[in-house]
Amino acid sequence: MGRRMLIGIDLGTTNSAVALWHSAEGANGEAGARLVPNALGAVLTPSAVSVLPDGTTLVGAAALERMSLKDGATATSFKRLMGTDRKVRLGRKDFSAEELSALVLMALRDDVEAHTGMRPTEAVITVPAYFNDRQRKATRRAGELAGLTVRRLINEPTAAALAFGLQDKAEREPFLVFDLGGGTFDVSIVEMFEGIVEVRASAGDNRLGGDDFNTALVLAARGRLDPEGLLGKVEDRRSQALLAQAAERTKRALSEGQEAEFAVTVDGTRLSTTITTTEFESQADGLVRRLRDPVVRALRDSQIDAASLSEIVLVGGATRMPIVRKAITRLFGRFPNSSVHPDHAVALGAAIQGGLIARNGGLEEIRITDVCPFTLGIETAERTARGGIQSGLFSPIIERNTPVPVSRMGSFSTMADNQKQIDVTIYQGEAREVSGNVLLGTLKVPVPPKPEGEVGIDVRFSYDSSGLLEVDVEVPLTGAMHNLVIIDEEDRKAASDLAARRKALAALKHHPREEAANQLLLARAERAYEEFLGDIRAVVGDRTRLFVAALDTQDPRRIADAAAALAELLDLLEANPPL
Ligand code: ADP
Ligand code: MG
Repeated sequence: MGRRMLIGIDLGTTNSAVALWHSAEGANGEAGARLVPNALGAVLTPSAVSVLPDGTTLVGAAALERMSLKDGATATSFKRLMGTDRKVRLGRKDFSAEELSALVLMALRDDVEAHTGMRPTEAVITVPAYFNDRQRKATRRAGELAGLTVRRLINEPTAAALAFGLQDKAEREPFLVFDLGGGTFDVSIVEMFEGIVEVRASAGDNRLGGDDFNTALVLAARGRLDPEGLLGKVEDRRSQALLAQAAERTKRALSEGQEAEFAVTVDGTRLSTTITTTEFESQADGLVRRLRDPVVRALRDSQIDAASLSEIVLVGGATRMPIVRKAITRLFGRFPNSSVHPDHAVALGAAIQGGLIARNGGLEEIRITDVCPFTLGIETAERTARGGIQSGLFSPIIERNTPVPVSRMGSFSTMADNQKQIDVTIYQGEAREVSGNVLLGTLKVPVPPKPEGEVGIDVRFSYDSSGLLEVDVEVPLTGAMHNLVIIDEEDRKAASDLAARRKALAALKHHPREEAANQLLLARAERAYEEFLGDIRAVVGDRTRLFVAALDTQDPRRIADAAAALAELLDLLEANPPL
């Protein structure tokens, strides 16, 4: 039997990271969670997947760089599609969000293997607290597709809270974790005492993140950026990618100063305009407003008032935006705490959770109690005053922000004479009518025909510490039991062909890890070649050709020289684009 190795993974919409728990007995002395660098030496790996023309898959910075290429075949932000059956076409193949996520997980796993010489077999993977059951199951499948046993899914803000709590060690008043990433927003209120980390409430918005602020910048710039309509002449997907990349640069620059340039180069022509903080603020006003709701809901559900929060802990790259910080300061009437690294805390927390599961040395016993962020229930009907039936009503069984693991039961009965079957349809959400909630699945329960109301069923919902739901239905009259571990048909199908899909993914040609830096350089060169025209384009083409020729020789000296020459040119073009 091989040694098992458990890693902690932050599988983000924009960036992913992997960390390991090191026990005190390890080589480096002090116990703690540490991030593992990728092949480029960075601890953040962009959650981007690209398929090269020869079918090879590429993950990370080089893939992201290929985003705006004509034949870029790159996917980003696919975490937004988790739990749906939407497919993304890359080259000649369709990928689901969980398959793309699996490719990212495989790359991180390989980074750990390259770094430690040991192949990881198990993982703790983080998910947004506000991820629903479908999205969680899809994340777990992504791990399994990558050949990892997923020991636990842990909520991102809870992971961040662990990292924050362990770092400060002090007993404390409740604190609030404010996690704004690229595509999701999560708020959790957490308390720590005597080795127990207790999440009191979570709330969030699954469709709000830094990406949306990029869109706001594009809207602010678009009107005056391109009077000649040049962008309209390039392929839609490409112009969108160019604008999104430009917005990303502008947004980061606006985190440093009062105004910034918004610039794209299209077919050799440079389009640019200036955007001020004030303009950005007014364009993003609607987004900033949406930050308030989840905060209010989490406070209300936990019955904690804002004044008794000891800290507002910021996590997620998008909390670097001054307009977001300003909104937070206004909302809470005080400055937020920036003592945890906004990009690292979640992965470090996942590794700490991993250490706890593996009962690793150097970790005092810590117990974590989390909550389910959504209400779970089933569809029921009711007799109206006039004798009719109103169906489509939602009957909660487990209410939101109940501590997990939890098991609750509800009892229901037939509504018609001689009814032969009861459909137990499971929903997640807060709306009074099921049409406003997320459908999780249906369990068809046969019952003996009897007069209306005489046959009862007991529906038990069990929510485990990964936030996954299991449903048991008992018919007391007959003693029959029905169980639904896998919620829907889709899921059942997915589980049965998991092995085949894992094989198919592993069989794809993956770009060799040790060539990551060269691949990134090539992608940058290709992009510059597409962006510029004339002399500049010719020089880019020449140096790229020399670099490719050097790669063919496999002579490390020649490769390094050609790479340096090409990188120098690209740095110059990117830093100071000529008009
Ligand atoms: P995720 O958890 O979704 O992967 P991250 O926490 O890595 O996301 O945050 C990514 C988001 O943070 C992106 O939208 C990115 O543009 C934004 N971001 C990163 N750095 C900055 C910065 N300096 N200024 C403004 N936004 C930033
Ligand atoms: Mg994140």
